[in-house]
Amino acid sequence: MPLTDSQFMRYSRHLLMDDIAESGQQRLLDSHVLIVGMGGLGCPVSLYLAAAGIGELTLCDSDTVDRTNLQRQVLYAEEDCGKPKVECAQNRLHALNAETKIHIYPEQLSGEILANSYDLVIDCTDNLAARQQLNAHCVAHKIPFVSAAALGWEGQLVAFDFAHNDHLCLNCIIDKDAPEPIMNCGNAGVVGPVLGAMGSLQATTAIRVLLGYFQQHGQIQRYDGKKGQWLGLTAEAKQHCAICGIP
Ligand SMILES: [Zn+2]
Repeated sequence: MPLTDSQFMRYSRHLLMDDIAESGQQRLLDSHVLIVGMGGLGCPVSLYLAAAGIGELTLCDSDTVDRTNLQRQVLYAEEDCGKPKVECAQNRLHALNAETKIHIYPEQLSGEILANSYDLVIDCTDNLAARQQLNAHCVAHKIPFVSAAALGWEGQLVAFDFAHNDHLCLNCIIDKDAPEPIMNCGNAGVVGPVLGAMGSLQATTAIRVLLGYFQQHGQIQRYDGKKGQWLGLTAEAKQHCAICGIP
């Protein structure tokens, strides 16, 4: 399907770039991305991906908007307090780009949600169990996976292209039997824009993956907002990983 006149106008800043152009924009329009967690990471991720013209976004989060969220979760307004996050997000994202189909699940991650077909899964959760569930699903179904986390002044992102790589997954880095971290944003705090930086990086990585430019399977990027420093490194595969290892 060729782009419409309205799409030519809307996505003109992508179309000006030779390495995106009309064919790249069409790929974005044909993509379906799952975003799990609509907090401090999910807000910027979904805003940028809806603005970029991703065809379908599925949002999953069981929480309602709380006044303490407004310091960093930039999709929500004061009037949203008490309402389900995914409903508020759907309204806000629809106002931004009515062409992007937004599917919502006001519930915790489940097999039913994962049973849909996705081109990419983005982990914006704040708990290890959900991260591991997403990682295992993406390994098994060869779906690219972008995971991030932030606490205090620091953020971390790791991305995997399971469509083209069998080995090295999140479980190689964080064992699935590891306990949930004691520190979280609710008890240790977080600087809002650090989540914005990591969420923007997740959205950029997502666009790279969808356009076929992602070559750095297992790449980790760490950001220290207090020092203003980025650090990039590559994870190593665990020899007998229970999720991605060959039995
Ligand atoms: Zn692994």
